[in-house]
Amino acid sequence: MFKSIYPFTGEQVAEYQPHTPEQVTAIIANAARAFTTLQATTLQQRCDWMRATAQHLKDKAAEYGALITREMGKTLKEATAEVNKCADSALYYADQAPAMLEDRLIKTEARASYVSYQPLGTVLAIMPWNFPFWQVFRFAIPNLLAGNTGLLKHASNVSGCALALEAIFREGGFPEYAFQALLISSDHIEPVIADARIQGVTLTGSTPAGRSVGALAGKYLKKSVLELGGSDPFIVLRDADLDKAATTAVLSRMQNAGQSCIAAKRWIVEAPVVEAFTEKVKNILASKIQGDPFKDATDIGPMARPDLAQALSKQLVQSVAAGARLEMGGGVQGCNFTPALLSGVQPGMTAYAEETFGPLAAIIPAASAAAAIALANDSSFGLGASLWTQDLEKARLLAAQVQSGSVFVNSLMRSDARLPFGGIKESGYGRELSVEGMHEFLNIKTVYME
Ligand code: NDP
Repeated sequence: MFKSIYPFTGEQVAEYQPHTPEQVTAIIANAARAFTTLQATTLQQRCDWMRATAQHLKDKAAEYGALITREMGKTLKEATAEVNKCADSALYYADQAPAMLEDRLIKTEARASYVSYQPLGTVLAIMPWNFPFWQVFRFAIPNLLAGNTGLLKHASNVSGCALALEAIFREGGFPEYAFQALLISSDHIEPVIADARIQGVTLTGSTPAGRSVGALAGKYLKKSVLELGGSDPFIVLRDADLDKAATTAVLSRMQNAGQSCIAAKRWIVEAPVVEAFTEKVKNILASKIQGDPFKDATDIGPMARPDLAQALSKQLVQSVAAGARLEMGGGVQGCNFTPALLSGVQPGMTAYAEETFGPLAAIIPAASAAAAIALANDSSFGLGASLWTQDLEKARLLAAQVQSGSVFVNSLMRSDARLPFGGIKESGYGRELSVEGMHEFLNIKTVYME
């Protein structure tokens, strides 16, 4: 059974029967049939269904928000904002899809030559619990609009969200079976990826999960997109607006109880402003209210699972043993982890080298701007980055040197339907969102007419 546990109290809220192998076979067959159904629909029709889906989400944002909070513990206000972000992104894509999917004429010596964008079939999405609606929507919106069908293997602690997501697209008007949840554990994923009716697989999750799914995608020659972990640098140079940088650093690191792939995990601060920056972030952190995620005043809820809180605690203890200074926080009880700040973090320490997936910030001093960039790049990950300086010419030069899929200057690193999102190095490959995300699971077909 898949159990849904409310992280704040540890109380079980629901349990779900996994699908049997026979049910999985039937679900895949239905997805393949639904692909044929979708092929007979127009893009205009699918855009209308997507707009209706967005309206449904907006109408029920509080209800879906509460479901998210109960299953993985983020605050209700964060969860409701997540549902609304899904709705806004659905509307954005419904407006943009016709231009993104239009044939692209290319002038050659032929009478006509062009590229057309055609759906491939059924795509499998393996998704995590940290943004249980948004991670799924950013895959599902462009793919359903383009005419692919989707299967969702969600994280096993958010099965209620998985089933709600399946129903939401039907509510919007999409044909039955166009988007279905597969309630299976990860050790039953190979036969699904192997199935000839599955055309591609996308995974958002940890780097080990990415390696495993990437290997299966290679074995069965399926197109894959991997959006994996990150240890994003948040680089504060000596001429930065320190107040804005400090506020944004705390927001980035602590939102969703620190459980975000693009959270600012390594705060790399130029030496002359380390002390001032540390004081500012300590004050902001001290003002944050941690507790009951359903209460409006709460800023930081529990982590999603006790094992995740324990793993973070171990990383903190190891870092302190190696010489990092614990400025505040770090207590753990069940899923509740007191927001923690480490200073004096150096190369080789756990909080420097590993992804920390929870409310733990690490301040790493840098001797110069060049040293800050070298520290930022001294990571196996390359997802996002945030760079703080008032000299925009310098920012342009330094942004080009940062090894990551995105750099946000003087701004919070975040995902936005208008901008491509994804990583390099062990943060994975491929892109989601924007036109690049729309084209990942399409047949980019060349037509040449003599
Ligand atoms: P996982 O990466 O293990 O889980 C994410 C999803 O992948 C879940 O649906 C999971 O299914 C599935 N999965 C896991 N292993 C495999 C596999 N071998 N084959 C196929 N599917 C697989 O994350 P965890 O929940 O265990 O969290 C551990 C760490 O992962 C975190 O501490 C964090 O570092 C990272 N993480 C990163 C995320 C991101 O946004 N980049 C999101 C979540 C986690 P199931 O639940 O059934 O195991």
